[in-house]
Amino acid sequence: MIRRLSDSVISRIAAGQIAVSPSSVLKELVENSLDAGASVVTVSIDSPFNFKVVDDGEGIPFDELPLAVERFSTSKIRSVEDLANLKTYGFRGEALHAVSLFSRLTIKSRYYREDAGGVIVVNGGVVERYEVVPFSCGTSVVVENLYFNVPVRKKSVSRNEKKRMRSVVEDMALAREDVVFKIDGTVYPASSRFERIFRVTGKNFEVRESDFVTLFLKTRFEGGGGKTRKIFVNGRPVVSKEIDSFLKERHVDEYIIFIQIPPSEADFNVSPLKDRVIFRNGDRVFSDLKRLLDKKMYFLPAFQTASRVKEDEFVEYGVLKLIGSDGTVAICDDGNYYYFFDIHLLHERVNYEEILKKLKEGAFEEKELYPPVVFADSLIARRMRELGISVRREGRVYVVRSIPVVLSREDVEAVLKGESPESVASAACRNAVKSGVEFVSEQELERLLSLYLECKEKRICPHGRPIFYRIKKREIFKKLGRL
Ligand code: ADP
Ligand code: MG
Repeated sequence: MIRRLSDSVISRIAAGQIAVSPSSVLKELVENSLDAGASVVTVSIDSPFNFKVVDDGEGIPFDELPLAVERFSTSKIRSVEDLANLKTYGFRGEALHAVSLFSRLTIKSRYYREDAGGVIVVNGGVVERYEVVPFSCGTSVVVENLYFNVPVRKKSVSRNEKKRMRSVVEDMALAREDVVFKIDGTVYPASSRFERIFRVTGKNFEVRESDFVTLFLKTRFEGGGGKTRKIFVNGRPVVSKEIDSFLKERHVDEYIIFIQIPPSEADFNVSPLKDRVIFRNGDRVFSDLKRLLDKKMYFLPAFQTASRVKEDEFVEYGVLKLIGSDGTVAICDDGNYYYFFDIHLLHERVNYEEILKKLKEGAFEEKELYPPVVFADSLIARRMRELGISVRREGRVYVVRSIPVVLSREDVEAVLKGESPESVASAACRNAVKSGVEFVSEQELERLLSLYLECKEKRICPHGRPIFYRIKKREIFKKLGRL
């Protein structure tokens, strides 16, 4: 016989899906504090079954305390339209109700516009106390004896649960660096996102930003501790296999991603735990991420002397990943090789091509060349024009009467002899970092490398020294007995 379930049975079944674990209960309480506009959230965890969250948020009006623990009661949304425009963590109005069924729940609160506070105590779904009490401000929610009336669930709580509870709160702390978090003994002051991440994870990440995505990433191995891999969408920690594997494929080892999109573009109403998201426009998020990660594909010649390089020996490799640097040499990895770049020469090459480009564009002022240089060879005339030198044809000869200020007579004479203009090379050298003397940050190196990848000549510096030395990774693996 099919019977309609009674409300109280429905309620218990549903509550079971929300209060699945002490950490999920704790997460709900912290979210409530944040929704209430708290600037300080204090969490104390005695055990997985006894814990407390105190905040300085707007509080709950005395009359509404009983409503707060009723199922499907929320102050956060009114209509289905609101659901599509969510700015709060909570919206289901189920959490406090669920907790009140499975524990002894004490809520003390004072609404910011009321003079007195109130307390409500609900034990296993039964209201034991509801009265006015003095209370400073904000809200305190105490959970005692969680799962006392559901022994099977109590038994299933993992031995690691206390650690998980802490990490759930730390995740919220990562999402909201503007809020002070106190977790047992630890205080996280309001700070920048970068500082908050450092305080919580103890690690420094490299930051990359685009319209929707802020990506804190690490591609190099620093050892110690577990891997940090976290995804936040509109300040909400979520799990996403899609994003995880997307990043893994691109060799991002550790990451914290903050995706910020209009509320109407993210649907969190997928699971009661609110830890999944469906993007209305997932492609946009992924193409943003891709843009942040995809350095240009590029070509590097085999390492040999210039004359021996033939076009077909250029091989396409993957991404050039910076592994590290001691200030003189930058070590990179392209999947097949480890590269050792001389940072000074790298910079020199980039400067050199930059100056040549500007010369070609006629970006420099002219100075008079007196006496003028006269020659007959049309090929040389072409080469001169490539350097931004104005060449006039006068009868059967070519005449140069002025040159860009960065060049000298010696340069013009060098070109006549079929050589390169030394002034450009020495200007490139003068303006390049002195390896081992000047500090180059990781981000500057990354930028330098990406400029270098656009250079026409990648093997040698303007004076003919090799810019990098590389070793096949396979060779190293062989030596290490890995193959
Ligand atoms: P939801 O967060 O989905 O609205 P909850 O069951 O978590 O549902 O909370 C019910 C209501 O209780 C909230 O809508 C809010 O009005 C009130 N509330 C809960 N916790 C707090 C708090 N710390 N500060 C202020 N109001 C709170
Ligand atoms: Mg809530």
